[in-house]
Amino acid sequence: MKIVRTVAETRAARAPLGRLGFVPTMGALHDGHMSLIGLARDGCDAVAASIFVNPTQFGPNEDLARYPRPIEADLAKLEAAGVELVFLPTVEIVYPAGFDTRIEVGAIAERLEGAVRPGHFSGVATVVSKLFNIVQPDVAWFGQKDVQQTRVVRQMVRDLDMPVDVRVGPTLREADGLAMSSRNVYLSATDRAQAVALYRGLSAAEAAWAGGQRDAAALRSLIAAQIAATTGVVDYISIAETNTLEELELVPPAGAVISLAVRYGATRLIDNLVLSAR
Ligand code: AMP
Repeated sequence: MKIVRTVAETRAARAPLGRLGFVPTMGALHDGHMSLIGLARDGCDAVAASIFVNPTQFGPNEDLARYPRPIEADLAKLEAAGVELVFLPTVEIVYPAGFDTRIEVGAIAERLEGAVRPGHFSGVATVVSKLFNIVQPDVAWFGQKDVQQTRVVRQMVRDLDMPVDVRVGPTLREADGLAMSSRNVYLSATDRAQAVALYRGLSAAEAAWAGGQRDAAALRSLIAAQIAATTGVVDYISIAETNTLEELELVPPAGAVISLAVRYGATRLIDNLVLSAR
């Protein structure tokens, strides 16, 4: 496994790798990340990952400073998974003095997470486009866990004619249903126990959908009831069109994406579930 830190080094190391699958991450790797690494080998000659805690996607009062950075353990996991190339830049490499460009994706980046975290998706789009230009992957893998991020990246790739095939891997969950996340380590034992309410809510809504419920407000209140049984504070509960993430009043036969963001103490959790066509 080759670890590279500069743009020139990365491009040189990438050149002989053939068709390259790529998984961008912020590190603190868990089985969700590793599942994407596994998927990235499919149809490719080699796999690259990046570990970069991107400051431009964090708001001023968010967890940038305390975001976990267990770099040695992360590298061991990537090595064990057979990853060929790891891009491990510093902030100065990605944003050198004088850096002054941002990518702004439109409507898809403004709702949901974008409304609660202004500037977040601009930071994501900017760093992902830089990572694509530096690593030059053929295929890039993103997790369904961050469903809006997948839509924002797809929009950017389409609009800017980026020669990258964007693919989405399923959400990996803990045994009780909590979506794996690098941020789960912030949860106190009590909050960790309560955080299963997100998945309980999503599952309750899915069961109601399967039973014929089509009214988005009714589905949302099933989820709200699960969260209300805990100390969680809801940022949003959304039932939206699968591609545009526009809010729905009635779920069409084609289905929808239910997504939510809930805070337990200082920890903000997001999760989502696809209501598949019926
Ligand atoms: P992050 O390190 O949080 O930026 O995540 C890197 C990639 O892993 C993103 O594409 C995430 O959507 C994806 N990811 C995060 N959590 C999970 C999960 N539980 N299952 C699958 N993919 C995930």
